[in-house]
Amino acid sequence: MTLHSHTHDMSCQQLLASIGDYVEGDLAPELCQEIERHLAACDHCRVVVDTLNKTITLYHASAHETEVPSEVRGRLFQVLKLDNLREKKS
Ligand SMILES: [Zn+2]
Repeated sequence: MTLHSHTHDMSCQQLLASIGDYVEGDLAPELCQEIERHLAACDHCRVVVDTLNKTITLYHASAHETEVPSEVRGRLFQVLKLDNLREKKS
């Protein structure tokens, strides 16, 4: 596989393929940053991740498991919130 023309720019497909690992804290810090940067600029992925996050929250609330690191979740919510504010302003 040598099709990496944009190693610094994650595609929506790549993001969605990695998002499960991201929310579970299994991703390298560089990849987390790529995902956060992409989410800040991509409405489509933000909606998907926002929905996924709510699903995970509900799941953990009912299962009484807290495997998702709060640090990563906090950063994710921060990204989502920041972008909502930016949308309202423009
Ligand atoms: Zn995207």
